[in-house]
Amino acid sequence: MANNEELFKKIISHAKEYGFVFPSSEIYDGMSAVYDYGQYGVELKNNIRECWWKAMVQYHENIVGLDAAIFMHPTVWKASGHVDAFNDPMIDNKDSKKRYRADVLVEDYLAKLEEKVEKEVDKAAGRFGEAFNEEQYRNTSPKVLEYNGKIKDIKARFYTALERGDLADVKALIEELGIVCPLSGSRNWTEVRQFNLMFSTQLGSVSGEANSVYLRPETAQGIFVNFLNVQKSGRMKIPFGIAQTGKAFRNEIVARQFIFRMREFEQMEMQFFVRPGEEMKWYEYWKSERMRWHHSLGIPAEKYRFHDHEKLAHYANAAADIEFEFAIGFKELEGIHSRTDFDLGNHQQYSGKKLQYFDPELNESYVPYVVETSIGLDRTFLAILSHAYTEERLEDGSERVVMRIPPMLAPIKAAVLPLVKKDGLPEKAREIMDSLMFDYLCQYDEKDAIGRRYRRQDAIGTPYCITVDHQTLTDNTVTIRERDSMKQDRISIEEIADIISKRLKTNYKPLPAM
Ligand code: ATP
Repeated sequence: MANNEELFKKIISHAKEYGFVFPSSEIYDGMSAVYDYGQYGVELKNNIRECWWKAMVQYHENIVGLDAAIFMHPTVWKASGHVDAFNDPMIDNKDSKKRYRADVLVEDYLAKLEEKVEKEVDKAAGRFGEAFNEEQYRNTSPKVLEYNGKIKDIKARFYTALERGDLADVKALIEELGIVCPLSGSRNWTEVRQFNLMFSTQLGSVSGEANSVYLRPETAQGIFVNFLNVQKSGRMKIPFGIAQTGKAFRNEIVARQFIFRMREFEQMEMQFFVRPGEEMKWYEYWKSERMRWHHSLGIPAEKYRFHDHEKLAHYANAAADIEFEFAIGFKELEGIHSRTDFDLGNHQQYSGKKLQYFDPELNESYVPYVVETSIGLDRTFLAILSHAYTEERLEDGSERVVMRIPPMLAPIKAAVLPLVKKDGLPEKAREIMDSLMFDYLCQYDEKDAIGRRYRRQDAIGTPYCITVDHQTLTDNTVTIRERDSMKQDRISIEEIADIISKRLKTNYKPLPAM
């Protein structure tokens, strides 16, 4: 369902209508790329964060957590390269007055060419049927070769221009490729300029250069500057990791994609410290472990893919993204980066403090290398919403919207519903509610016909509805309705907690480290 704008709009309006995500300060007309999480959104977000945290910190003996401050010493961002290099090349269309990331315009153009290649291959597969040899076709079809040649040439020129900071050539490339503004359709572009993405503010009451601090653009640096604190106080032995979740801030240029690209967002990052020279094996380990975690959420595997970076960031010697097929197409969800000793080495240099580890097995000290896994919490949230949102036509001709949120992440785990608001059924339902609420977030609802109450729970993704009816009063049984199949079973009250708990278990277990 690539690039399905309609679906994307529906997800956004569903998220608002059902209390998942609201535009920030909406009564003042909102703020671009800033959002608030509503009553169900905050639960889903907390559940995703907890699921990640457990997978990292609880299931790995050699990973510990951290909660560093958002404000950091300004020199941190000099050392990390963010003051000088955390720039996006931007370009404005003079007719629509819209601003774009120049690199995204070229990448979108490349993606279209790649789509053309795939279309050719699909067409040929249909033509040739079983006899189709895909590899041979890709290597010999003149059209495919032509597209691929073009892709290769554009990439070579584009990445060289970016690396050299040759913005004039990026602009020339955009012009030569005939890239038009998606809004105005015109090619009337400004020059390409660099734009630093960090927000700055003043610490204390005196303004001036010396008091300027940045809102962190990534959580990783809080981990690097605490590397020795954690290693020493926790007596950690390499290899080990430090995990952290928290807010990050970027003054994004292109900010029109709901919670995909926000100016204030949350990251879940883990920096894994390893011996120099062993980083590639850990890079591979974490690539595959992180993908296994995503698959364990119960979303079909074909929704995810790796994208290996050709142009590496200034700090990396290998990098890959895990991309997810959002309603707006395949886009980055998580990055796995081999960051070498770039960060620790630079902090050592800028701070004048040694950031080395004494390796008792090797009997030597070194600055460790780092493999990072960095995932956006809000993007994971959006991935879950995109997968979950389902419109169904039922056998009786009616329609329902059901959020097929993985049960362990669902905001509300069970709804307890008295069939009618009399005859002692509400009291009985309250008893069940009381027995479940200390273990699971449950919701009691007695308003409206039972069918409407089921629909409300479907719309927020509640895996189970427990209905108390007159039979309950005589034999202590209830009906339990499962969200996806809508199947109802009659079970005894004692079984409820067990059924819920089984469905909420994760099936992620890390593979043993090498
Ligand atoms: P992009 O290329 O989409 O701007 P990035 O490569 O700059 O992302 P990283 O610096 O690798 O992103 O950050 C790690 C993760 O943080 C990303 O994979 C993404 O999930 C999340 N992230 C980054 N920027 C944003 C943002 N503006 N809004 C929401 N999540 C973000």
